[in-house]
Amino acid sequence: MYFSKYNIFSKIRNSDDYYLVNLLSGNADILEPAKAKEIISGEYINVQEYIEKGYLIDEREEKKIYMNKYLEFIENREKDEIQIFFVPWYACNFGCDYCYQSGYEQEKQSLSNEIIDSFFSYIKKEFAGKRKYITVFGGEPLLLAESSRKSVEYILQNATQNGLDTAFVTNGFSLEEYTPILKKYRIREVQVTLDGIEEMHNQRRPLKNGGGTFEKIIKGINTALAEGININLRIVIDKENLQSLVDLAKFSVEKGWTTNQYFKTQLGRNYELHYCQASQSKLFTRLEFYEAIYALIKEHPEIVEFHKPAFSVSRFLFDNGELPEPLFDDCTGCKTEWAFDGTGHIYSCTATVGNQGEELGTYYPAVSKADELIKLWEERDVTTISECKDCNLQLACGGGCASIAKNRTGKLLAADCRPVKELLEMGISHYFNESV
Ligand code: SF4
Ligand code: SF4
Repeated sequence: MYFSKYNIFSKIRNSDDYYLVNLLSGNADILEPAKAKEIISGEYINVQEYIEKGYLIDEREEKKIYMNKYLEFIENREKDEIQIFFVPWYACNFGCDYCYQSGYEQEKQSLSNEIIDSFFSYIKKEFAGKRKYITVFGGEPLLLAESSRKSVEYILQNATQNGLDTAFVTNGFSLEEYTPILKKYRIREVQVTLDGIEEMHNQRRPLKNGGGTFEKIIKGINTALAEGININLRIVIDKENLQSLVDLAKFSVEKGWTTNQYFKTQLGRNYELHYCQASQSKLFTRLEFYEAIYALIKEHPEIVEFHKPAFSVSRFLFDNGELPEPLFDDCTGCKTEWAFDGTGHIYSCTATVGNQGEELGTYYPAVSKADELIKLWEERDVTTISECKDCNLQLACGGGCASIAKNRTGKLLAADCRPVKELLEMGISHYFNESV
């Protein structure tokens, strides 16, 4: 018997208690200090209770369970729905200072119906028999030019003919004008970004000519919600606008959004992707980001009406009363996610789409695929990244983002570590121990 290598054990933030979580056995416990001492010293009063929960286990037995769970994970992923991003163009009407695409060279090519047809015929063949949906991404997909509207509508018509839902990721500026078009089709959701309330948002996400965008986006969100279109509101946070989360939460509550069945939210951390940002000092590391959110929620608990942060598996555990299945891989690129752009290129995901040198093939004018590279993406998980193999956090972390790992190390099979231990310290405190 040994102390399972998948045990995650630490002290809960702002509490005398500890937590013990094991994603392989699916058990989680809050331990009083006396119990925690047993673990720290390795002198257990009742060994049996630790064995029953898989915290103490025979190493060979554990390897078998691990292998079975891994095979189950791979098998289940085969049945997962595939999210297919389509970037019709990289053009955008906004001039956000942190845009990771702003350093990309843009090929001047207009989107023809022939390219859209080729995209649909490729995905029909390549992902035959798979559940899938399209997410139209940019640049900004909902531009007001007549040619853009026609292309968007042609994409929607094709998606409908193929029985596919469509989602959009938009800056929201033209959502009001596009709502009559969108409501005719199967729209899964529209993701819109606000970076705070008016002043902060307009400072960070202005039009290219410097004009404000906040009021028009609010109108667009209200129009879409009134038509029953799902809105996923995202706020991209860094040190500059952290406090705006408080204002935006209040604003959303006042607008009645937070109780609207068609409304949900997500927090995004502003981070360096491929393009060096003008002010790197504004950025939070992943841990700093969650530390800041945790502290802000302590000060302004009303934020949770707007958004409930995940803190690794903490929210899942709280909402479902059980842990999620082990996460052997947290990167969907080339597995359940692909990205295609209007120039005919194929990429792994939204992090790489449009980035020169990261193409994995073409669907237009001819089909071609970089099979070896794609295989590498497909193989990447915690069993193939050497740093992850002996990491006790692996089944909650899943090895992180391949693109970030590659940018950092030059290798795809490298770790992008998630601060799981600290996230659980905060998350278990927030969701389970708040009264302590
Ligand atoms: S590379 Fe990163 S952004 Fe792309 S699918 Fe993987 S985790 Fe997501
Ligand atoms: S990416 Fe880092 S934290 Fe995550 S499993 Fe691998 S080594 Fe562990």
